Amino acid sequence: MSGAEKPRTGGCLCGAVKYELTGDAAKPMWTTVCHCLNCRRRTGSALYTASICPKEGFTITEGEDMLSTYDDTMTDSGEVLKRQFCKRCGSNMFNFSSRYPVVSISAGSHDDFEDWKPTLEQYCIHRADFVGKAAGVEKRYVESIEGELEKEEKTGTS
Ligand SMILES: [Zn+2]
Ligand SMILES: [Zn+2]
Repeated sequence: MSGAEKPRTGGCLCGAVKYELTGDAAKPMWTTVCHCLNCRRRTGSALYTASICPKEGFTITEGEDMLSTYDDTMTDSGEVLKRQFCKRCGSNMFNFSSRYPVVSISAGSHDDFEDWKPTLEQYCIHRADFVGKAAGVEKRYVESIEGELEKEEKTGTS
């Protein structure tokens, strides 16, 4: 059936921040694993998983005032990336760039994360040695998905 996507919901660890994705936003344009060094620092983890969705249909339903924003200026593009997190529990929640009408949502915040699967991997050049290639992804990029960047050789995954 190719009807409207089922709305999706999610939130932070402490429950203060909650969001909803409806309409086009309920179907991510990409689901990505990012190995970049900024995401590593920001998450405190080896990688960042995110759903990239159109802003239209993305709604913060609770706790907008509980979000803090860090302006990340150390981006490849030089464009400020607004990184939002819950100021009570510290959960990484959303990224926004003024260049694109999209929101990048930390995938682990989805209520239905069990269904989440990556479609692409980026900044593979920084993939931690102990982390394998994400299974089933369609595209891998050595660096970001922007511009004419090399695609990493696709081998040995399914
Ligand atoms: Zn929280
Ligand atoms: Zn990143």
